[in-house]
Amino acid sequence: MTIFFNNLKELSIKRKDINIKEGSAVYSASKKEITLTGENYMNDVYHELFHVASSFVQSGNIYSGFYQGHWYLIKTIGRGLTEGYTEKLAEDYFGDTDKIGRFYAYEVYVARIIEQIIGEDVMKKLYVRANLPELIRLLSVYVSEKEVISFLNNLDFVEKYRKATNINKVAYEVLREAFRSVTFFLIKIYVKKLVGERMEYEIFNEMIWNFVNGLCLEFNSFGTYFEIMKYEEVQEYLKNILRNEKIVLIDEGIGR
Ligand SMILES: [Zn+2]
Repeated sequence: MTIFFNNLKELSIKRKDINIKEGSAVYSASKKEITLTGENYMNDVYHELFHVASSFVQSGNIYSGFYQGHWYLIKTIGRGLTEGYTEKLAEDYFGDTDKIGRFYAYEVYVARIIEQIIGEDVMKKLYVRANLPELIRLLSVYVSEKEVISFLNNLDFVEKYRKATNINKVAYEVLREAFRSVTFFLIKIYVKKLVGERMEYEIFNEMIWNFVNGLCLEFNSFGTYFEIMKYEEVQEYLKNILRNEKIVLIDEGIGR
């Protein structure tokens, strides 16, 4: 909350292209400025206010939610997860209006899973304090730190290019690989979390299948680039992970 009030004190608002019907809002953490474009910018404002509440600049570095980047944007990390979680908060607090939840629908879904892993209160706290290192540390309880960082980078890549049109074959393959890696990471960390909770086998079994089926269903609804993820492929990955944990699942997933 301290960040929020400090930023509010210095926040300036700029208007652009006021005659355009479509609208948007963008927050610049370095300038502490929201730029409102067109007429229908209100849904974006909710989203941007969460950026205002969670961003600060220190010695040329921008910290925003789970995002960290140098001023000149040479190397950045955590943008995908930050956008997803920002939109998730906007949805939770201001309702699912027309635009909210659509633009970042995929990132919101991913952010919700990460929130399930570390818990809602902790996730919110780390977001408003822009504490990425602690998020990485908490996720590294279940998988290696290297895997967490690579997940964040892959999600950034997917966020940046998934809406691109006219993408060439090489870029398509890279995007496909990044998307697969994110999916596999989510499955792995979810399994590790459940295994650690030592629940009853039947419940474990049901939760795993619900999770994986939901994941495939959701991800395939996000457009062209996601249809490349085959259910069988996901199922095979899940079985491998469980084999390493010495768990055999009741095969409830097939055919769903
Ligand atoms: Zn945003």
